[in-house]
Parts: sequence; C-alpha cells; structure tokens
Amino acid sequence: MIDQEAFEFPRLPVQLYNTESRHKEIFRPHADNHVKMYTCGPTVYNYAHIGNFRTYVFEDILRRTLKFFGHQVTQVMNLTDVDDKTIRGAIESDQTIADFTQPYKNAFFADIQSLGIERAENYPAATDFIPHMIDFIQKLLAKGIAYKSKDKSIYYSIDKCPKYGRLSHLKLDELQVGAGEARVASDEYDKENASDFVLWKGYDPSRDGKIYWESPFGPGRPGWHLECSTMAMHLLGETLDLHVGAVDNIFPHHENEIAQSEAHTGKTFARFWVHSEHLIVNHKKMSKSLGNFYTLRDLLDKGYSGIEVRYMLMHTHYRTQLNFTFDGLEGAKTSLHRLRDFVQRMQELADPKEASTKRCHLSLKQAIEQFSQGMADDLNISVALAALFDLMHAINVLHEKKKLNGGDASEVLYVLQKLNRVLGIFTFEDETAIPPYLQEMLEQREEARKSRDWTLADQLRHEITASGYVIEDTDQGPRLKKA
Ligand code: AMP
Ligand code: ZN
Repeated sequence: MIDQEAFEFPRLPVQLYNTESRHKEIFRPHADNHVKMYTCGPTVYNYAHIGNFRTYVFEDILRRTLKFFGHQVTQVMNLTDVDDKTIRGAIESDQTIADFTQPYKNAFFADIQSLGIERAENYPAATDFIPHMIDFIQKLLAKGIAYKSKDKSIYYSIDKCPKYGRLSHLKLDELQVGAGEARVASDEYDKENASDFVLWKGYDPSRDGKIYWESPFGPGRPGWHLECSTMAMHLLGETLDLHVGAVDNIFPHHENEIAQSEAHTGKTFARFWVHSEHLIVNHKKMSKSLGNFYTLRDLLDKGYSGIEVRYMLMHTHYRTQLNFTFDGLEGAKTSLHRLRDFVQRMQELADPKEASTKRCHLSLKQAIEQFSQGMADDLNISVALAALFDLMHAINVLHEKKKLNGGDASEVLYVLQKLNRVLGIFTFEDETAIPPYLQEMLEQREEARKSRDWTLADQLRHEITASGYVIEDTDQGPRLKKA
C-alpha cells in the first residue's frame, strides 16, 4: 500500500498573468472554488492547425492545473460555425452550413483526443444560439447602444462605452476615431481601425448565397464577437471567472466582447483575462492566410504521435512565442521518450504489496514541491518539467545501483500519476491497478451520493470519465474499469 500521507500535494493559490491589469495576480473564482471558464474555440471551416492547438493545449494545462490545486472547473469552448469563412466554404462546396461544418467539428474532436486534451464541459455551436443573439441585439438597440446602418447591419456604437479599450490598453482619443465615423463589418481588424463593430451583418445575396437567419431587424447573421458573448453568458452566467484565448484575440475580439456584454448586463463580464502567445514560423504567426501551417494530421502522417505534438506545444511557457521547427519537434520527442522509458522501467519494477525502502521519499517530496510551486507560479512549465527530470535522474541513479524495490517504484508511479493529471503525457497503460487518485475519487463519489450531493457526485464521475475510466456497478458496489 502506498503511504499517501507521505506524499501530500500542496493546494497552492494559483498566480496568473491578468491581461487586463498587466500583472501577475492570485486567481480565485468568485464562488465555492468553482471556476467558470470560457475559451474561444475554433472556426470550423477547415482543419485546425497546430498554432490553434498551441492555444488549446495551453488551455488544457490551465484547466488541469486549476483542478490539480483543488478547483472545480466548468469550461465552455464555442464552435464558430457561422462567419464569413464558413459561409464562403458552404457556398463554394454547394452545401448547407451544417453539412459543410460537421466534418470539421468531428475532426476537431478527434484531434483534441489525440493531443490528450480533456474535454470541456460544453461545446456550444453558434448556430444553436441565434435566437439568443437576436435577443441580445434587441436589448442593445433598446438601450440606444446599437444602431442600424444603411447596409441593414446593426453596429455597436463604441462611443457609448466609456471604458472601451480597457483590456487592450487602447487610447481611443489618440486614435481619433469618433462615433459613426468608422464602421467595421468584418469580424477581424487591427487596432488602427478601432471603430463601431458589427453585431448583425445584413444579408447580401451575392455574398451569402442562401445562408441567412430572419430577425426583427431583417435577414442576416450574427457577428463573431456577439456569438461568444451570448454563449458565454448563457452557459456560464453574466460574470465569468476566467476568459482565455490567444493574444490575437485581445483586440478586437475580447475588447468587443466586454463592450457589448457589459452594456447588456451592467455587470463585469470576466473577472480575469489570460492570453497565450503564438506558435510562430520564422518570426511570423502560424496562420492559414500565410500558408505557413501544419495541421495535426500533417504531423501524424509524418509519423509523430499526438502526445509528442502535445509535449512540443506545452513545454515552452505560454507567454513566450514558440518557434515551430522539425528539429524542435524531434527534441521534444526525445525528451518525452526519456520520460516515458522511465515510467516503463518503474512499471516493470513496481509491486505495491512490497514495503518501500523510503529511499525515494526525499526526491519525491522535492519533486512534488518544485512541480507544484512552478505550476502555481503562472504555469511555469519549465520549473515543473525540471522537477520531473530531476526526479527521473535521482531515481535512475538509485535504480542503477539496484537500490530500488517494487514498493519504491510503486511510490514513484503514484507521484508520477498525480503530476500527469496536469501534464497528460503518460498513459500508464501497462498498469493493472487503478490509479489510486481515481480510486479516491470513486470513494468520494460514493460519499457524495450518500449525502445526496448530486453536483459533487456528477463532477467526480465526470472527472473519472475524463481520465479514461468508467464506473461499473457490481454486487460488491461500484468499480472502475478502463473505458
Ligand atoms: P480561429 O479558428 O482562427 O478562430 O482560431 C482559433 C484560436 O486559435 C484562437 O484563439 C486564435 O487566437 C488561436 N490561434 C490562431 N493562430 C495561432 C497561432 N499561430 N498560435 C497560437 N494560437 C493561435
Ligand atoms: Zn471568442
């Protein structure tokens, strides 16, 4: 039996860099340790590229870290299935927008699974929320914050928002853009063009084919920014704890989300904003438009695994640009395999029934401490991974000197499994034993059910499922089985 008390994992407060304040701050959810987190998701007009996946892997590490330190997380990630790109794609392929986007939605879910990304609690598609979006726009029109233009589109009037620019630290007076002087119908534009943005894009048959929705202000389709605000607030409430994306989302997307949401509710839209840096290629952002991208499928075809790509994407701090090269990918692959070989050696030796020599205790405790401190410090993955490599070296030395027994190896595996809840890079497939932390969760779930705490019971079941196990009811009580 593992002496679990010997390896206590500290529940540290998590510091994150808040884009709005431009400072590292302790992040705490508003209520009950429950983090309501919104993450901008993919536009499903094509396969996502590994630049997009750098952001999604980062968000996965963030989510796992919050859970590691004892938070409950409800994450929503939207699927943008209506915008100019999906409409164009549907028209070009002579399909409905639903038929055109479905294969890319499916591909996205297959890709995140290969990358070891835990599923969010909810993946709303924009086309399922059009009535809510129309309602949202009507509220802004009634408040005089939105107006209809000659092209029958509805725009948000940024001069009605005194704090416009507070996330991106934009000074509107310096840009000298006044009300109604400039309007942007496109969803994406840069800071030089700060201007009234589109909430509802009036239908244009030559551009939109047969794709439009009816509304009290005429046929058309919602603007991208509005899609996120509507789904975020509908599913998570008027104030989110944490809103996350990549740095290119800060302006205009997130700035506009704040403006319209706060005009709607009069409340703070998101209490904390976190943004990750880009994956770049030769000093340029990896993007579809530049053509300098690889999809995950391209790399799988070249013989790399999803977890190798995951490791490459996550091993640089999220606020540093990461330059993609095949040499870099090879390097990441080599490091990952050293770690995985180590896990395998421990698995071959492990015997949880044997009493440990306690020789690994000091190294394990140091690893737990350093790993936890690193992750709690704005997800300092370099410190956390260094802790793991130091642990591997220390244990390898003992192993080579034949100073480890099966009990020691089981203790090492116990700690590695816990660290892996954040990293998601090991599979522990060779194990017959159920990971102890999952066993613990199963017991907690039984207690929650006995005390009729269905929310907690559901959350625990969800976590067990997300770790690749299912709960089986037997005559002897519930049991865990690999899914
Ligand atoms: P899109 O599908 O273009 O809306 O992008 C989906 C997400 O990927 C957004 O949060 C983008 O900010 C992010 N993203 C796009 N390109 C990159 C890149 N090269 N590196 C990191 N994140 C990116
Ligand atoms: Zn968004």
